[in-house]
Amino acid sequence: MSCPDICGWSALAPEAARFSVLKGALQADYVIIGGGFTGLAAARRLAEGEPQARIILIDGKRIGGGASARNSGFAVANESPGHARLDNPEELAAFMAMNRIDHAGVAELRRLVKDNRISCQWEDTASIHAAHDPKNFNKLRDHAEAFRGLGLDARLIEGADLAKRLGTGFYELGVESRGGALLQPAMLARGLAATLPETVLCFEDTPVQKISRAGGSWKVQVAGGSLSTPHVIVAVNAFFPRLGLKRLRVFPLALTASLTRPLTAAEEDEIGHPEPWGVLSPQSFGATMRLTQDRRVLIRNTAEYRPSGIDGALLMARRKQHGEGLNKRFPFLDESAIAYSWSGTICVSRNARPVFEQSQPGLYLCGGYNAAGVSRGAIMGRLIAELALGGQSELLSHVLNLAKPNLIPPRPFFDIGVRLRLAAARTAAQSER
Ligand SMILES: Cc1cc2nc3c(=O)[nH]c(=O)nc-3n(C[C@H](O)[C@H](O)[C@H](O)COP(=O)(O)OP(=O)(O)OC[C@H]3O[C@@H](n4cnc5c(N)ncnc54)[C@H](O)[C@@H]3O)c2cc1C
Repeated sequence: MSCPDICGWSALAPEAARFSVLKGALQADYVIIGGGFTGLAAARRLAEGEPQARIILIDGKRIGGGASARNSGFAVANESPGHARLDNPEELAAFMAMNRIDHAGVAELRRLVKDNRISCQWEDTASIHAAHDPKNFNKLRDHAEAFRGLGLDARLIEGADLAKRLGTGFYELGVESRGGALLQPAMLARGLAATLPETVLCFEDTPVQKISRAGGSWKVQVAGGSLSTPHVIVAVNAFFPRLGLKRLRVFPLALTASLTRPLTAAEEDEIGHPEPWGVLSPQSFGATMRLTQDRRVLIRNTAEYRPSGIDGALLMARRKQHGEGLNKRFPFLDESAIAYSWSGTICVSRNARPVFEQSQPGLYLCGGYNAAGVSRGAIMGRLIAELALGGQSELLSHVLNLAKPNLIPPRPFFDIGVRLRLAAARTAAQSER
């Protein structure tokens, strides 16, 4: 049995404007490859910085239709410290720097949504890291302490209070922290694309095949044409290696998510009509859950190393896991309540550090934020454009000073190692999935 891959957010969003397929040879001052949050932010910043410049944004599929539409819609401000050892001054400084970057990313998105009146179900709501299994409670308490150490207001919420807030008694302990937002990601990505400055020319369904240096400029090759430009920003997220970039630094992970039909009036009564919420797990392989503004439940509880992607049969199996995860939290929901299931790819590095660099003169690379690229893409895309414009800022220095992604072993050694590690992480997160 096979399951059609339909991103619920995209299916429920108003239709997006279509952009042309690139044909023939064009010249541009700047070319941005990849029209997700990173590429959209870079294009906007370049247009602001050089209003006369000819800027081309190009995507292999639909602009804003990749991971930027397919995620869980958390604009994360306070990412959990993960495995960072915060008693180590270097790790603490990196954690603080990332937190600053994430807050700047949320602020940037908030500003854009407001200024451009982008309708995307934006909600400034506390994010909740919550656990079901007592073995994860200490992790949560550590989170709360780490957040407080950053001067953030983080409070524990437990038992009946938590159950009332969420409408499910599945979770026993949570940490609430402020600064982030929840949103409808496909609507946000489409809104950002639709409000780009006019000097940005967009092409879609135009995969870049090759980037090469020709004379003093760069040649960006596509099936029906090419672009020549002095400056290229590559913002293709998990697809860097397919363009021959960062092969030994980043790798893709395939995630799957499902969105239910809207809850019925009787179900709403049963859960007590809670406000919309988003819950993240203290275990990186635990479930991400949301109760959306339009009263659906989102679940994302799988992540795996599948360089060739998720086919219909596999998505069917993952949808079954989503049904089980829903049923644990809301006994009236199961697989039959799922309206949409889809897959998406994130870009991961071993040490959870993003790619952000000028790798050769005029060639800029930005991306790879694990599963936290909504806010990070928005700010780092902007900052990579500032780097290309020759700008300087404190935040740009912060990003440039972050450690780079660690080396990964070549395949097939990497494939074996990563599958073993992921299996262990899945087992550790079993009770939270
Ligand atoms: C299921 C799921 C849940 C997630 N949940 C969250 C969440 O709640 N919060 C969060 O912050 N992050 C989340 N993420 C991660 C987040 O979606 C990404 O980090 C973010 O979208 C990255 O943005 P980006 O612009 O760098 O990349 P993308 O959105 O992936 O955009 C890259 C673009 O490059 C294009 N491209 C690739 N190769 C080529 C080529 N050769 N030529 C031309 N174009 C090309 C692609 O078509 C794509 O549109 C999630 C991801 C998934 C899959």
